[in-house]
Amino acid sequence: MVTALFTHSDCLEHVTPRGHPEQVARLQAIENALSVAKFDGLLRREAPIGSKRDILRCHPAEHLKKIQTAAPEEDIISLDADTHMSPGSLTAAYRAVGANVAAVDMVLSGEVANAFVGCRPPGHHAETARAMGFCLFGNVSIGAKYALDHHDLSRVAIVDFDVHHGNGTQDLMWDEDRVLFCSSHQMPLYPGSGAVSEIGGSGKILNVPLEPDTGGEFMRRAYDREVLPAIEAFAPELILVSAGFDAHLDDPLANLNWSEDDFAWLTGRICDVAEACCGGRVVSTLEGGYDLRALAESVAAHVGVLMERGG
Ligand SMILES: [Zn+2]
Repeated sequence: MVTALFTHSDCLEHVTPRGHPEQVARLQAIENALSVAKFDGLLRREAPIGSKRDILRCHPAEHLKKIQTAAPEEDIISLDADTHMSPGSLTAAYRAVGANVAAVDMVLSGEVANAFVGCRPPGHHAETARAMGFCLFGNVSIGAKYALDHHDLSRVAIVDFDVHHGNGTQDLMWDEDRVLFCSSHQMPLYPGSGAVSEIGGSGKILNVPLEPDTGGEFMRRAYDREVLPAIEAFAPELILVSAGFDAHLDDPLANLNWSEDDFAWLTGRICDVAEACCGGRVVSTLEGGYDLRALAESVAAHVGVLMERGG
């Protein structure tokens, strides 16, 4: 089997203010990195438009309406100090949702071994009724709810290795006892949540804060001791990944010191657990990562491992 790659040129039409780290050039850098011969084996698919029904699996209708109403016809508007919309943002956000749902379908049908969704805007900071942190909709959470409710799964694990806490996913999954949500993140750092004591309504949230200036070895120990055993014990039928690459040494927004090799190692370990629990079924979705070179090389390392393990 192969690895699917979901993206769409519409995701380049989500334009943020000049100097904003979550910029169009991120996807261009990723596309360049994945255009070399090594990645010819990817099954490339255009991200479809996500449905209102799927967005409402996680967000109330008022939130969707608020985002639709805020969408500008020209210029760039601000939802908060960090989060913006341009005329192309709404369609881009719909495609980020649709890609997650389609990737879940493809992986669960056995058409592909695993998938990477390279869309933007990202999603893990979007709370139930609030866009924030560059995110409009909870893309990965929507994929999880879709897998549970549409495909009748009983257990889905979400691993979030973005350097920022996935407060949105935590909020959306707080009372969802069919989801194990594991987040590693630098602490203290935006958005401020993600303490060990935040365990969710049914104890299915595992927060693993990492101290600033720690590196890959520290991360590897944390995953081997805590995160990976927790996922294995939960025995998920599908693993979703919020793949942010801003824990990289060169990232301008945070202070963890991971390398491309660390992202490759972590991807391999997540695949190990997926193979033990659920036939290797992994859907990974781009979140952060703001140094363009580090982002491109880290995504290439991540997708390279998904392809090796899926092939
Ligand atoms: Zn981040």
